[in-house]
Amino acid sequence: MTHVFGRSGASLPKAVRGEGCYIHDARGRAYLDGSGGAAVSCLGHSDPDVRAAIHAQLDQLAFAHTGFFTSDPAEDLADLLAANAPEGIERVYLLSGGSEAVEAAIKLARQYFLEIGQPGRHRVIARRQSYHGNTLGALAAGGNAWRREKYAPLLVETSHIAPCYEYRFREDGETAEAYGQRAANELQAEIDRLGADSVMAFIAEPVVGATAGAVPAVDGYFRRIREICDANGILLILDEVMCGMGRTGTLFASEHDGVAPDIVTIAKGLGAGYMPIGAMLCTGTVYDAIAQGSGAFQHGHTYHGHPLAAAAGRAVLTAILGRDLLPQVRARGEMLQQALTSRLGQHPHVGDIRGRGLFRGVELVEDRATKATFDPARKINARVKSAAMENGLICYPAGGTVDGKHGDHVLLAPPYIISEDQIDELVDKLARAIDTAI
Ligand code: PLP
Repeated sequence: MTHVFGRSGASLPKAVRGEGCYIHDARGRAYLDGSGGAAVSCLGHSDPDVRAAIHAQLDQLAFAHTGFFTSDPAEDLADLLAANAPEGIERVYLLSGGSEAVEAAIKLARQYFLEIGQPGRHRVIARRQSYHGNTLGALAAGGNAWRREKYAPLLVETSHIAPCYEYRFREDGETAEAYGQRAANELQAEIDRLGADSVMAFIAEPVVGATAGAVPAVDGYFRRIREICDANGILLILDEVMCGMGRTGTLFASEHDGVAPDIVTIAKGLGAGYMPIGAMLCTGTVYDAIAQGSGAFQHGHTYHGHPLAAAAGRAVLTAILGRDLLPQVRARGEMLQQALTSRLGQHPHVGDIRGRGLFRGVELVEDRATKATFDPARKINARVKSAAMENGLICYPAGGTVDGKHGDHVLLAPPYIISEDQIDELVDKLARAIDTAI
């Protein structure tokens, strides 16, 4: 028996080695990593530059507390991120993962409004199909009913509006543009209901990941969201923990939507699985209000700005930018979409295939015509996941809710280095897993 408390356990294969796009287990089986775990391993599992950077930093200095020291890797990484961030984003706060980054974003928003003399602003508005992390603040922001249920009494009250989810919610005869405006205007309606002077932030994933399976917004949605935030004096927090760091073909996913956030969170692809690291970035305006006000953001974690993790992040970002991986993500992403469409586009249980870059979702339905979801008791997601593992494929079941009802999606987020042959292998193994599972 194992004493590990968590998702790993005796029933799971034991991972012993990573090479390129594959993880090998103790029995010698190879698994194609079709989802980067959960959109983490963007450079594959044996990147020589990232490994060398970690070794070199380890030989010099693993840790120095940020209460006493700064460090080259942390400063370089922050400079590199700020230089490539959306317009107005100037400051970078390094953390250990996505939930920490979201917690910091929410606290920063609150402190910003205290500093500028608007203490009544404390409410966050989020969206129903969203996941922002598992710590209590981030969980409260997230809209996934299943993840929230047990902890409901511990969660601060948060409003959840509908996401922009064209496949499910665009009405017959409605143009994509009109739908985007209608969905975004829900934010204004909620602000009006709560009273603008009590709302501090709207948080959203530019491309929804774990709860809906790679759902980008329609064109114009986020521009309207930005307008509404500005008109009401509300901060826009974009959670790019999953969809950022090149995953969708631009370094920040929001670049595609043509909006710049006030605060943005990143994690997964930043460390690419080589180190646990996340970051919260903010505009000079938000930063200055605090720097010129009370003087310091009242926050911090022991491992904030960890030099070894920052060295890994610096190497990952240098690889993404220096090896010109973003055009490759866009091209391979199109190939993946085409391969999925030609193999699964007419499948009786595939309702939608969507996404951006190497971030793709396959929505599984009981009935294509009515878009009816499966009975949750059938555990389709779990069955697809284990059938895929049997076939030697790692894919991520994105089991969300479709407005209160169950929904089944498979999330694909392979390494940016995936080859054309490996895309075919991925799609072939996924198609077989879906047929076995349903
Ligand atoms: N935000 C988003 C959009 C995520 O997808 C996740 C994790 O899946 C998180 C936050 C939480 O990140 P972590 O698991 O690193 O705490």
